[in-house]
Amino acid sequence: MLRLRGAVLAVCAGIGIAATAAAQDHAKVVKINDSIYMAPMGSNVYLVMTSEGNVVIDTAPARDAQEARELLRAVSQAPVKYIILTHGHADHIGGIEFWKQPGTQIIAQRNYVELVNYVARLDGFFAPRNSVAFNHPQQNVGPWAGNYGATIDPTILFDEKYEFTLGGVKFELVSTPGETPDHLTVWLPTYKVAFIGDNYAGVGMPEPMSFPNIYAIRGTKPRPALDWIKSIDTVLALKPEIVLNGHADPIFGQEEITRKLTRYRDAIQYVHDETVKGMNAGKDVYTLMREIKLPASYNLSQVFGKVSWSVHGIYDGYAGWYDGNPSSMYDEPPSSVYPDLVKLAGGPERVTQLALEKLEAGKPVEALHLTDVSLAFDPGNAAALNARIKALEKLRESCENVVEDGWLQYGIRKAKEKLPAQ
Ligand SMILES: [Zn+2]
Repeated sequence: MLRLRGAVLAVCAGIGIAATAAAQDHAKVVKINDSIYMAPMGSNVYLVMTSEGNVVIDTAPARDAQEARELLRAVSQAPVKYIILTHGHADHIGGIEFWKQPGTQIIAQRNYVELVNYVARLDGFFAPRNSVAFNHPQQNVGPWAGNYGATIDPTILFDEKYEFTLGGVKFELVSTPGETPDHLTVWLPTYKVAFIGDNYAGVGMPEPMSFPNIYAIRGTKPRPALDWIKSIDTVLALKPEIVLNGHADPIFGQEEITRKLTRYRDAIQYVHDETVKGMNAGKDVYTLMREIKLPASYNLSQVFGKVSWSVHGIYDGYAGWYDGNPSSMYDEPPSSVYPDLVKLAGGPERVTQLALEKLEAGKPVEALHLTDVSLAFDPGNAAALNARIKALEKLRESCENVVEDGWLQYGIRKAKEKLPAQ
């Protein structure tokens, strides 16, 4: 059974994320050095103090933002000259309003604009999926904002690099696309500190770190693996002594940083390259999802990102939706003939019986598919719904991924809702 869900759902990548005990337990300021402090909330908020004013890096999810500000204002109340957003996910931009003062400049990489417009454009699509993925009640969906309806807070946007100096401290910002296309890294050569957002450790959790979500199944555009790899190389080339993450704890020491980031990069590279080799060998996506396993030497868990989903994401990111089967070109999906198959089998009871046998034989996914078939014939069939619940519960028993577990629980809730009242 899953044990970590509560602890790691302070995660990134999100749009309104559940508060967690883990985040709240650590909600006091961490001193990184004499000039840099961190408020570890649903996402970490950083304060960099200079003799001419402060710089805030990321602002936490809206629900945590005020608390983060109070914590860091207790350290320094100097004017906020700049807010830097490592990327446009809601768990990093929810507190802009609390920090913004007259004259505060807000900096993001230029792709931020499209990212937040994309999120707003598909708000009605994402809202229910986010509520499942992040285990929170569905947020209200307002009227459609249009294709370009998001609020754009940044006052400075850059493409590749942007630099400024404040109080003698140089801030070098560089585009490092990874978890999102607008990801940026903030490099402070004075302190040899790199703030890298969610490009390493898109989730707060103890070691072993999780493989990332090259594709997040709540719904994301492809996250190009090669860009992500290049961005980690960009960070490594800076030779930082401290790496500050969007969620996880700081990493100290050049050797440790190199070890961790290299391992993470190489794991992404491995999964990417194996997927590409398989595609070139004519293998279909499901075969590759089964075949590609992360070597144990990488020592990464799959509590947050899942290798098989990433394989699927990389495959689809390169090739799009068509699988090469002529029957997939049309708008009647395989499920359009499920009721016919049920009739052929002699009724939903026969198909459900087979589902239970599959379950008994240790094949819960096949059992789940068979309940899809039964329920296409009779959506309220109690035996089929009960078999479905059993299959989903069986899958939960061996599930280690927080997001997968959220979707399994969602499936169980939905099936129970359809069962006749006892
Ligand atoms: Zn995040």
